[in-house]
Amino acid sequence: MEILFATQNAHKIIEIQAATQGLVTLKSLNDYNFTDEIPETKPTIEENALEKAWYIYNKLGVNCFADDTGLEIEALEGEPGVFSARYAGEEKSSEANMKKVLQKMNGIRNRAARFKTVIALILNGKEYLFTGIVDGIIIQEPRGTEGFGYDPIFIPEKNTKTYAELSLAEKNTLSHRAKATALLVDFLKSHTV
Ligand code: IMP
Repeated sequence: MEILFATQNAHKIIEIQAATQGLVTLKSLNDYNFTDEIPETKPTIEENALEKAWYIYNKLGVNCFADDTGLEIEALEGEPGVFSARYAGEEKSSEANMKKVLQKMNGIRNRAARFKTVIALILNGKEYLFTGIVDGIIIQEPRGTEGFGYDPIFIPEKNTKTYAELSLAEKNTLSHRAKATALLVDFLKSHTV
């Protein structure tokens, strides 16, 4: 069975390709010469993932899935959440985003936060959601050079290292995206022959 991963992020394709190997033939938007920006206009991570997946399903008419991720900080009432990519502005700078978080959390003792990934799958016109959550804390100063986004300021629970101090392979054993992907893979195993 062929499934299209509706993302423009080549890094994510490689990640999910490894997890779905032998199960489905994973297609990318490049395979369909699709370069338009995919709309992402909703107020929640779930709705954004669904919006992206349905948009591509309706445009291209193929089984597909899309993902959306946000960092939710308890003391900031769930911010940056759906605004994680552009929290400090449209240039989507990770440095500026982290700086804004650390400034807003200056003097705040409750450092609890979580990463949440939702994968929305549209299979033969029906939608399915898979959610991966990792609880953790926001530290005071960035640490580590691996990964991307908010990795240098987030320590997952039961760990002492930030996501950015873990190798990609280590992060992939425990991350929010890995958890959501594992649920998608389990589902596909029981729905593909
Ligand atoms: P997306 O929905 O996967 O594109 O994620 C939105 C934003 O959340 C990204 O631009 C990053 O700022 C942040 N983000 C997503 N996944 C991660 C991660 O694994 N580590 C750190 N930041 C992430």
